[in-house]
Amino acid sequence: MPDLVPVLRKDEIQRIVGEMGQKISSDYQGRELILIGILNGAFIFLSDLIRQLTIPVKVDFIRAASYGSDTSTSGKIQLTKGIEIDIRDKDVMVVEDIVDTGLTLNHILDYVKSLGPHSVRVCALLDKTERRQTSIALDYAGFKVPEGFLVGYGLDYAEDYRNLPAIYHLQP
Ligand code: 5GP
Repeated sequence: MPDLVPVLRKDEIQRIVGEMGQKISSDYQGRELILIGILNGAFIFLSDLIRQLTIPVKVDFIRAASYGSDTSTSGKIQLTKGIEIDIRDKDVMVVEDIVDTGLTLNHILDYVKSLGPHSVRVCALLDKTERRQTSIALDYAGFKVPEGFLVGYGLDYAEDYRNLPAIYHLQP
């Protein structure tokens, strides 16, 4: 059995998600925001985040498949579900669970921008900067985390562990 080493407690995650929600609500006051969650990993973060927002929101999802080894992105990314609501001239926030190399996000941002939104920003719960291969700036980032494979709070390993309320480092 792999070892699960605690990285972020449930209460730490709830606190930071609350702070991110307040900041986004204040930055977008008087506007409507369209949140685009990246499936599958961001579904728990997104569902907690939208309940902290005090502005009008709409929600849709993108599903991105990456073909690589178990624990890293290959850079070959295919969108298997696109945006279904109209985002033309809207303010859009892409919501990611974790950004590692940044290749997935790069690809997704190109796609989102091609649909003609008024603005696009990025919100990620976890920012793993050590292997970043792009110059992407995260507009809202929750925690900076070190190298290592994380699970829990929506993050999986082979589809397991998504339901854990805290975040752990998976050690082989
Ligand atoms: P990137 O393209 O930035 O290298 O990787 C982004 C995607 O890889 C994330 O959306 C996530 O699905 C997956 N990923 C990156 N790091 C981790 C990690 O530590 N744990 C898990 N479960 N997935 C990760």
